[in-house]
Amino acid sequence: MTVIAILRRAALFLILTVFTQVGGVLYLLYQPIRWQISQRVPGKWRSRGYRLLAFTMVYALGSLLLVPPLALLNGRVPLPVFSESSLKPANYFFVIANRHYVKPALLEAVLDVANQMDHSVTLYFLDANFPFLDGFPLLPHRSHDDGGKLDLAFIYEKPVTGKLLSGSPSWLGYGYLETPKAGEYDQPANCEGRGYWQYSLLSRLVPQDNNLDFSASLNRQLLLRLARHPAIGKIFLEPHLKTRLGLEGQKKIRFHGCAAVRHDDHIHIQL
Ligand SMILES: [Zn+2]
Repeated sequence: MTVIAILRRAALFLILTVFTQVGGVLYLLYQPIRWQISQRVPGKWRSRGYRLLAFTMVYALGSLLLVPPLALLNGRVPLPVFSESSLKPANYFFVIANRHYVKPALLEAVLDVANQMDHSVTLYFLDANFPFLDGFPLLPHRSHDDGGKLDLAFIYEKPVTGKLLSGSPSWLGYGYLETPKAGEYDQPANCEGRGYWQYSLLSRLVPQDNNLDFSASLNRQLLLRLARHPAIGKIFLEPHLKTRLGLEGQKKIRFHGCAAVRHDDHIHIQL
């Protein structure tokens, strides 16, 4: 094996581990299959195609059959994916990358809140946690490393029909902003002015077309129900939204600090 081939595999292992945690280990488990295909399948592109298919299968089977029971031993369960639940992934990337694991108490709490909402409302989750290892970072988040953290999309209405948006308005799940209006306190400008360049970074990757209505009443109801749930310890929200939604009295709803990223594109909750 050439040095370049070794470096390429090491880079793949690293990338898969950083983005999916278990992907790197599954990549190692796939190596004997890879070797067999390389030996037996003629033609460079045909061999590559077979290898890609084989790794996809190893990854999918590992994620579906191996990870959930092992994660349960570690005290984490996956959030609902395919069921008719009032809680769903905003984007299947979070699920495919195994970033949808939480402690059972957090799943129970968020399902409680989802079921208390009007039946037309579905809550859409973004990043949660990886299945294993407390302290293993779920990049680019500063926390989300212990099974006790979860991000939720805001609730948006479509202007003409008034119907609720399914999922997130952002392809990324993050970065579609409900910015401060004139007269509201502008925490993002404050943070950026103090040199925290990363504070609004994600919004630059996402079109801000503003063709959706931020549902003040449903988001307020959601935040209130989350704040009143005994299992939820903290909620991060941008200060101008806390004021706009009349949530000043809610001690659990806090500002997260300039070293994080802005929270007027999603709600962060934790145990
Ligand atoms: Zn978060």
